[in-house]
Formats: sequence, C-alpha cells, structure tokens
Amino acid sequence: MALLSDIVSYADDYLRVGEFSDYCPNGLQVEGQLQVDKLACAVTASLAVVEQAIEWGAQCILVHHGYFWKNERATVVGMKKARLRALLCADVSLVAYHLPLDAHSVVGNNAQIAQKLGISDLRPLQKTKKTPIGNVGMLTTPTRITEFVNLCEQELDRQAIHINTGAEYVQKIALCTGGAQHMIEDAVEQQADVYLTGEISEQTVHIARECGLHFIAAGHHATERYGAQALAAHLAEKFALEQQFFDEINPA
Ligand SMILES: [Zn+2]
Repeated sequence: MALLSDIVSYADDYLRVGEFSDYCPNGLQVEGQLQVDKLACAVTASLAVVEQAIEWGAQCILVHHGYFWKNERATVVGMKKARLRALLCADVSLVAYHLPLDAHSVVGNNAQIAQKLGISDLRPLQKTKKTPIGNVGMLTTPTRITEFVNLCEQELDRQAIHINTGAEYVQKIALCTGGAQHMIEDAVEQQADVYLTGEISEQTVHIARECGLHFIAAGHHATERYGAQALAAHLAEKFALEQQFFDEINPA
C-alpha cells in the first residue's frame, strides 16, 4: 500500500515530465482514492480497459494514451462522460505518460522494443530536439531484412507492413513507436537501413522508395505495449504494489 501522491511524484521525476512539451497532461489526469495497492496498466485508457481494471480491484490505472488531448472537444459528453463516470464512480485514478514514456532510456516504449529486437548502442533519432523521441541503433551483425521483419513480427506479436525498398542486409535501425511515420525523414537523415514505427501513410511509401531504406509499420498499439508495462513493473517493485497489464486487441 502506497500513497497515490508518492507514486505519481516519483514517476513524474523518473520520466522527467517537466522537460517535455506534449499534446496532453502527463502524470495524474483523474484523481481517485489516495491509497494504492493494485496498479493496472494498459496502452490506452479505453472504457473496456477502465472497466476491466475496476473489476480487478485497481485503485489506479497507468496508461500511455490517457485523456484531455490538445484540440479535442473540452466538453464532458458521450464517450468521454462514460469513461470519466466509470473512473469517478469507482474512485479510481488515471495516470498517463505520453512522450516522456516514449523517450525514457529504460522503461520507454522505444528502449523496450530495441531491447526485444537486439538493437543496441542507442542514440536519439531526432538530432535537433531538446527532448528527442525515437532512437537509432545497431544490430550486432548485418542481418537479412526478411529475418529482421520476422523477428519484429514474432516479438511484437503482430503482422507487419514491410515496404521492401532497401538493401538485402541491414544493421542500422531507426525506430519510433506509435504514429511516428512522419519521422521517416529523421531516419533518412541518420542514414538508417530500416525505419520501424507503428503506422503508415500514403506518402511514407514514396519516401521509403525514393530514399532507399526499408520501412516497417508494426502497429501503433503493438509497438506501444511495453513502456506502460515496464513502468508499472518498476513502480510495483519500488512501492510494493500488485500490478496487472490489461491488453485490448487493436488492429491499428
Ligand atoms: Zn501512441
């Protein structure tokens, strides 16, 4: 059992929340009961996840995609009402970390995926940003692209879209989880052999073809499953909490 305020202030510091300018508030988004011993985690605070976590007995839900995004409607109606009502009626907190959780060097979405895929020597993908998101790193040996795509599919448990527009053997891998297809240009600038992200757009295919690198879209949800779990495990150990991951299948 730990105080919600202690958990949140520790996580805010650990993820260096103050250094990021983001599209949503990071940290405590919805305040519930003050003591926590069961911490649920998930990619997105969907209604299904909130309901399952409440049924499990969570006092706090930790997610990568929370609420209150810039440019969304500010009114509490419809879907937003249902989600907030579920949390508030059960007195359960919602804690969300977006870009700070992508970027963290240990529990971050990118760091976690790099580890799974055997990509080491990680450096920032974005050269000029104060708080860069995404990484570029190396496989230990030059690897056939088909083998690397298979590895991604196995480790992320998801069929990938592969735009096969690079060399047969690859070693320098750029990656950024989620909807970061626009950052393919950072991967080009870094002279990466492959750019791996979650989503794909029409123009991504042309950029990959014309710049001569492989592009892999392995799913927004699938690539962002690991940061919240790693952070929840870290917090559970630090504060002696019970923790559980709630996954909701999402093809995007
Ligand atoms: Zn995301």
